[in-house]
Amino acid sequence: MRINVITLFPDAVSDFLSWGVVGQAMKHKIFQVNTVNPRDFTEDVHKSVDDRPYGGGDGMIMRAEPLKKAVDSLGEYAGTRVYLSPHGELWNDGLAREFACQFKTSNLTLICGRYGGVDQRFINSEVDRVVSVGDYVLSGGEIAALAMIDSIARFLPGVLGNEKSKETDSFANGLLEAPQFTRPPTVLGQNVPTVLRGGDHKSIDAFRAALGLAVSRERRPDLLASDDDRLWREMCEILRTVPAEELRTCGLSAESVNSIYSSSKGL
Ligand code: SAH
Repeated sequence: MRINVITLFPDAVSDFLSWGVVGQAMKHKIFQVNTVNPRDFTEDVHKSVDDRPYGGGDGMIMRAEPLKKAVDSLGEYAGTRVYLSPHGELWNDGLAREFACQFKTSNLTLICGRYGGVDQRFINSEVDRVVSVGDYVLSGGEIAALAMIDSIARFLPGVLGNEKSKETDSFANGLLEAPQFTRPPTVLGQNVPTVLRGGDHKSIDAFRAALGLAVSRERRPDLLASDDDRLWREMCEILRTVPAEELRTCGLSAESVNSIYSSSKGL
């Protein structure tokens, strides 16, 4: 997989990508990232990539020509061109999986804006897709491009130390992952839920599935496709095999724990 990043700050992008599992994957050539700086495609002495907005207003706008030349310099390696912008479709786990699959064999170019954004005419004629990483404004597209690259890379074979984790991580089944614990068994005055220390993997899997649903219901009810009452009652039965205090240690609110414990009443 080859990803091109059009950016005024190529070093910031390359430096960040040299760390952690993504850095290792790049060393092992599982994927490559190539940066192109639009400033290298300016013709004036000041190498200006921006200019004042038509119609007035604060801030500068990135000019279309240096951006177009930067993309054109990639020739056939440009592949699909994605502009990062708050105007785009919202990035999520599903798109990360889709991109990892689609761009395994074809190229992807991510275009980062700066300042007040990019001349719309460049977007109209040179961009295939617009992606946003959330409903907030960043000072540049680099962090958005890095978020995309990082989340795509996790789905490329050989990038994660543990290949199975991407199938149990949050969003893999549409819900949040159950909270995790490591040694020691007691820390900060809190004990690891007993079931997780018991070695009974069937019970552990059932508890984690139920806990994942409970955490999602509390924190991200929007992730639940439908409020499946029967499933929730079954999950509550599993969760009630664990003491209330241990459920609180799993990060559930007192309100959630109460509702788990009272959900059997009257049913
Ligand atoms: N004036 C624009 C924001 C410009 S921010 C507006 O109000 O819509 C400067 C650059 O940061 C943008 O060109 C874009 O590339 C990047 N950027 C800002 N927020 C972003 C987001 N939520 N997702 C992706 N890119 C973003």
